[in-house]
Amino acid sequence: MSENLKQQLQLLEEELSHRLERITSDLTSDHSADFAEQVTERENDDVLHGLQLETAAALTQIRQALRQVEEGTYGICESCGEEIGAERLKVMPFATRCIHCAE
Ligand SMILES: [Zn+2]
Repeated sequence: MSENLKQQLQLLEEELSHRLERITSDLTSDHSADFAEQVTERENDDVLHGLQLETAAALTQIRQALRQVEEGTYGICESCGEEIGAERLKVMPFATRCIHCAE
């Protein structure tokens, strides 16, 4: 397994960790005293919540992929044991399941 890939995953992990921290601190920041502002902020929070969940899910996948790189099982579907395929990994380097199992 190439070191490049591991580096790529580690960079992604770092980037997403930072993003998650930023989102979390945005979510916990104080709300405005103005009611109209609060409504906007709350809508904004909903978007942030979605982003937070998405980012956390991606992070979990990346960490799983990193573990697979270390164990030498990277690129193998964790559900069916088949190869995930180079094309899919190129698009989604942190995919841990093949396209059939992911659907
Ligand atoms: Zn599969």
